[in-house]
Amino acid sequence: MKHFSYQKKQLHIENIPLSTLIKTYGSPTYVYSYAALKEAYESYQKAFKPLNALLCYSMKCNSNLSILRSFINLGSGIDIVSGGELFRALKAGADPKKIVFSGVGKNAEEMTYALKKGILMFNVESAQELALLDQVALKLKKQAPIALRINPNIDPKTHPYITTGMKKSKFGIQYEEAFNLYQEAQQRKGIHIRGIDCHIGSQLTQVGPFVDALERVLALVDKIQSQGIALEYLDLGGGLGIRYNEEKPPTPQAYARAIGKALSAYKLKLILEPGRSLMGNAGALLTQVLYTKDRDNKRFVIVDAAMNDLIRPAFYQSYHEILPLAQKSGKKEKVDVVGPICETGDFLATDRALPKLQSGDTLAVLSAGAYGFSMASHYNTRPKAAEVLVKGSKHYLIRKRENLKDLIKGEEIPKALQ
Ligand SMILES: *Cc1c(COP(=O)(O)O)cnc(C)c1O
Repeated sequence: MKHFSYQKKQLHIENIPLSTLIKTYGSPTYVYSYAALKEAYESYQKAFKPLNALLCYSMKCNSNLSILRSFINLGSGIDIVSGGELFRALKAGADPKKIVFSGVGKNAEEMTYALKKGILMFNVESAQELALLDQVALKLKKQAPIALRINPNIDPKTHPYITTGMKKSKFGIQYEEAFNLYQEAQQRKGIHIRGIDCHIGSQLTQVGPFVDALERVLALVDKIQSQGIALEYLDLGGGLGIRYNEEKPPTPQAYARAIGKALSAYKLKLILEPGRSLMGNAGALLTQVLYTKDRDNKRFVIVDAAMNDLIRPAFYQSYHEILPLAQKSGKKEKVDVVGPICETGDFLATDRALPKLQSGDTLAVLSAGAYGFSMASHYNTRPKAAEVLVKGSKHYLIRKRENLKDLIKGEEIPKALQ
């Protein structure tokens, strides 16, 4: 979080006081540091250069067009999980040849769209999906480039909701079934096998599970290639963790070192799909204290951002550091920082030691650059927050705060009700 720091007792993003941004753009507002995302991208690039990896930014973590454009300009490909994401990625200027399409439930319309645009490959997650993709491709007189997403049955030791590579999870193809499905794919005229894929989970704080997954996948690669099925790509997915609180996740360099040796014996082009580790610590959510309220043994700090803006604390019980924009000294007190939404689960922090806060104080909720705005909703009919990008000495509004009209867009009352 080095791009967010106190200078002269004012919290800054790079060299801009956050108080300036909240005054200019209002509250709540997401702010992102271009320098932070660039540094994160370049540290991957540097670490994986010897392995000649293609980095495909996993855009579901933050799909703002300007964020996408930033990564595209840095040379990144994109990992998408829906037709909507493909539309966004193309709008932002992505090269289809650097787009991989993951996801457990792609429909025919999405397949058609992606085939027409000529993406790099589909990461196929079931036998039924493979059959449909084959049909759709044949109808378009095309071949669909694919990898099969293998479920290596490895415990990534992370939160259950973001564990994706274990037997009981809905994702991927069971390890034991994968070999047969490759043979089936080889027979299908509308399918062109390009690679193999896995993604075992998110917010991994150790490299061990990645190495274990890679070993399992490489054993399968041996078996597949021995049957004369050629593979060009090995996609290891995303999942590298970040520091929210006390975590000490491995660096991209440590990750590269850990998998480099096993890979060196193979002529496979590596693809990685990092999301959180590129954007998480590049963003913060700014919010203002509305009220405070005291209960028996508890103080609530009610702020103007809520679970519809940042759902991670409510959804995953996740920790986000919270700092006042104006540095405060003095005794800390334990409080719950809560939003205005009518849900007891609507909190940004519970039992958090913070300096004494009062109405009008402004706060930054850190590590909110990934799975923040992209998971925002309109729940309680709340307009979505503004998004601002800081680049050098300048700041840019990259998404306007929504207004009341935006909230009812597309709705119509039928004549019968008039
Ligand atoms: C979510 C996701 C990613 C990105 O995960 P992070 O933990 O944000 O790096 C990559 N690949 C797939 C298939 C995903 O679903």
